[in-house]
Parts: sequence; structure tokens; C-alpha cells
Amino acid sequence: MNIYLLLGTNIGNLSENLATARHLLTQKNLSIIKQSKEYQTKPWGVLDQPDFLNQVLEIDTHFSPFELLDFTQSIEQKMGRIKLRTWGERIIDIDILAFGDEIITDEKLTLPHPHAHIRDFTIIPWAEIAPDFLHIKLQKTIIELLNEL
Ligand code: AMP
Repeated sequence: MNIYLLLGTNIGNLSENLATARHLLTQKNLSIIKQSKEYQTKPWGVLDQPDFLNQVLEIDTHFSPFELLDFTQSIEQKMGRIKLRTWGERIIDIDILAFGDEIITDEKLTLPHPHAHIRDFTIIPWAEIAPDFLHIKLQKTIIELLNEL
């Protein structure tokens, strides 16, 4: 199963925050198969905030999509995420980009992630590790989405 997460951080020691998130993710029922490089990216939405460091992970897990969301949200809590404003600065943000070919439209969880394909900070690291993965809803591979940006 191809399951992809996007990590993002822009407060504190950014590389250390990503390392802590990877460590906490693999504590329970989850392993990391591939990881992209860490990309420094410009903020999106709210511009007057520090740059982000982003990374995409391919993972393997026995969690269901909703269990995975609960787990990633518990890690965001544990790492003390303070949400100051929408699209604003954060210690860690963990998004589920895609969970195999699952399509879910629920108020808690949308899969594939609804904004993933329009954001270069997602698509560039995603294309690095999974160029041929098919975005089930758009019926395009990640490399095709990158080329369309
Ligand atoms: P944000 O503050 O941008 O990280 O958004 C978090 C909210 O998005 C949470 O309340 C989640 O329930 C919701 N959400 C919907 N789809 C997803 C997804 N694919 N991955 C992570 N969070 C999601």
C-alpha cells in the first residue's frame, strides 16, 4: 500500500522537529519506507512568517485512515503544536497526502489531501520519492502533477 505523509515545520530547530516527528511516528504500528530530502519552502497563504522545512514520507502501517489521522494528530499535540492562525506558523504539521487509492470525503478527513496537488512544497518532495504514484482522484501521476505546476 502506498501511504504518504507530508511533514511541515517553521518554529524552532526545523530539522530537529522533523527528526522528532519521524521518531514519534515510528514508535507505534508504523514504519517509514522512504523519505524525501528536507526542503526549505516559502510560506503559503500567510506570507509574513518564517520559511518552512517540508518533507514527504512513504510509510507502511496497520492503521486505518482514520486511526492514522488520530495518531498523527496525537503527535502534533505531543510536540506542542500551537495553532496561532490558519496557515500560520507551527512546530509540526502532519498531513496525510494519500492512502493507497482510498477516496474519502469526510469533515475530519479528505483523501487524497484536497490541496496537495496545487502546492509546490508538497509536489516537489512527493515527486522525488513517488513520481509514478497515481493520484486516484485526478488520474495523474505525481510527476505529471509536478510538470503542470
Ligand atoms: P491543518 O490545520 O491545516 O493541519 O488542518 C487540520 C485539519 O484538517 C484537521 O482537523 C483534520 O481533521 C483535517 N483534515 C482533512 N483531511 C486531512 C488529511 N488528508 N490529512 C490531515 N488532516 C486532514
